[in-house]
Amino acid sequence: WDGGARTAADGRVATAGYHASMERRHLLLPALNRVQGAIGWISSGALNYICERLIVPPAEAYAVASFYALLATEPRPERVLHVCDDVACRTVGGLDLLAGSASRTDVVPSPCLGQCDRAPAAFLQQAGGNDAVIAPATPVALEEALGGIVAEAPVAIPQDPAGLHVLRRVGRVDPASLAEYREAGGYAALGVAIAKGGPAVIADVKASGLRGRGGAAFPTGIKWDAVANAAQRERYLICNADESEPGTFKDRVLMEGDPFAVVEAMTIAGLAVGARRGYLYVRAEYPAATMRIEYAVAAAREAGLLGEDVAGSGVAFDIEVRRGAGAYICGEETALMNSIEGKRGEPRNKPPFPTQHGLFGKPTVINNVETLVNVLDIVTMGGHAYAQTGTADSTGTKLFCVAGSVAAPGVYEVPFGVTVGELLDLAGGATEGIGAILLGGAAGSFIDETYLDMPLTLEDAAARGVSLGSGVVLVFAATTDFADIVQRIAAFFRDESCGQCVPCRVGTVRQEEVLGRHAAGEPLDVDLLDDIALVMKDASICGLGHTAALALQSAVRLGLIGGAS
Ligand code: SF4
Repeated sequence: WDGGARTAADGRVATAGYHASMERRHLLLPALNRVQGAIGWISSGALNYICERLIVPPAEAYAVASFYALLATEPRPERVLHVCDDVACRTVGGLDLLAGSASRTDVVPSPCLGQCDRAPAAFLQQAGGNDAVIAPATPVALEEALGGIVAEAPVAIPQDPAGLHVLRRVGRVDPASLAEYREAGGYAALGVAIAKGGPAVIADVKASGLRGRGGAAFPTGIKWDAVANAAQRERYLICNADESEPGTFKDRVLMEGDPFAVVEAMTIAGLAVGARRGYLYVRAEYPAATMRIEYAVAAAREAGLLGEDVAGSGVAFDIEVRRGAGAYICGEETALMNSIEGKRGEPRNKPPFPTQHGLFGKPTVINNVETLVNVLDIVTMGGHAYAQTGTADSTGTKLFCVAGSVAAPGVYEVPFGVTVGELLDLAGGATEGIGAILLGGAAGSFIDETYLDMPLTLEDAAARGVSLGSGVVLVFAATTDFADIVQRIAAFFRDESCGQCVPCRVGTVRQEEVLGRHAAGEPLDVDLLDDIALVMKDASICGLGHTAALALQSAVRLGLIGGAS
């Protein structure tokens, strides 16, 4: 090609102007997901066609397509099995499943799939068909899945739901029936919220002391208040259902088991803060939860509980479900917003915070699934009554994902203040002795038996130098090879770092290298690990970098790796 005038078909540039391009840019990830689902990879022809239709420069679209683990930019088999080899699954057969398929191109390792209560797990991606989860996975089940035969297990919790709050309908009420949901008390809270009005609802949420259940524990009422009082009229609500912290599966259980509660809670939040549109962003590895939520949204819209006149209130609010495409970092609130906007899921610098400059640059409330579902009780019983459960600084109940070496793994709902030991007793106790417990997920810390008397509250955890995170309580047997577990955690963060800032991009590689040298027989260089951790904590943009060394450092402290210190 010897130069000359470029045309629209030339494909190197977007030609319709910034605003026309940005108006459609948010459709990029849904379009890429559709192509991936239809033909099993993002061909250059499909990518170019999307770019022409959405007016996106191909280089930018390729940058987005290549960001996500579940979008393939090279041809690959029609059916691909992603077999979990993360911290929960690798100790109960995940590695054996992968070893048995070592020569296959249609079986690949995967980070945590959020199925730790029924590990080991695998996720089937199939072109032209529905994605599915196989859990617990066996060699026979995997072979059948590659032939297109999958029977997904229904959602279940080990506790009796009667007497619980957040989980009370899971397993008891048909998640596909709006009528049953209403018979079980569903949509009473929305009626109360409409009667009370937005300011009173926000006052209740503030009085309840509700704090975010995703890990950061930020007071929910303060976020809602900030957005409700924003000067701009255009505002958004986001339900963060991109639950990807290794060991976490509680939001999946809620979405699969009680999807209307999530939709109702989003509606209340949207009306309270004055948002006309809400997005629920769910990780791609949760096909059953996505289907349930999409159905619930459609049924609620049909019944007049979403749309231009929500339940006769005269106020408009609607929900759009967005699927991720395999990126842990999209659980970070600003990365998630970038992902919805059709950009790479890279976190933004803060400030400005989402309440000021969030989705599409507008004030945005973002809460995770468990946080939002708590709002139903807060609205009906009142904020002060809700705050009677738990402790002064940790109000209400909390869902914990208890898994690993325990008799009855699953999601447990307990009031804040129950001790680690009491929670384990509820789950039938440790089955093979306690080598250590991973509290809070890969971004959390290992604890040992000296923590069994620690009350599970935000303040007690902080006082002991750990974090409840997203509620992971993953028990490892005394016989566990912790060097292997810690190395997997290091590999996880190296792989999931978005690569945007140097401390995290380089630090996660360097700390994995230190562990690798130790595995090869060298003494563990604890000073170097501490240096790397300090730089990542001080200089990274987002929480991934801030927490990527915590589990490693706690493992060193407890003497699980490198000898006792
Ligand atoms: Fe990306 Fe890591 Fe920086 Fe976060 S800390 S922005 S994940 S490189």
